[in-house]
Amino acid sequence: MAFPTHKIRSLGDFDGLWTLSVHCRCCEHSREIPARFFIQIYGTRSRLTAVAAKLYCSRCRVRRCRCEGKDFETAVRIPR
Ligand SMILES: [Zn+2]
Ligand SMILES: [Zn+2]
Repeated sequence: MAFPTHKIRSLGDFDGLWTLSVHCRCCEHSREIPARFFIQIYGTRSRLTAVAAKLYCSRCRVRRCRCEGKDFETAVRIPR
């Protein structure tokens, strides 16, 4: 199930069992990032919006693409 990112406020919501899917509109590169990964770095109380703002498309960054890796959309997958 995919939800808009705003369903998650803090990284620890839903017991940290959700996954963030990131899709680059520019190069079509997609990846799935488990909440655990973010929690290890930022802790359970960090806001997802703040963390998502730091994301970028690694492919576009490497290529020094015009979009600077920032032309992506995100969705949250929450296990039922
Ligand atoms: Zn890209
Ligand atoms: Zn790009």
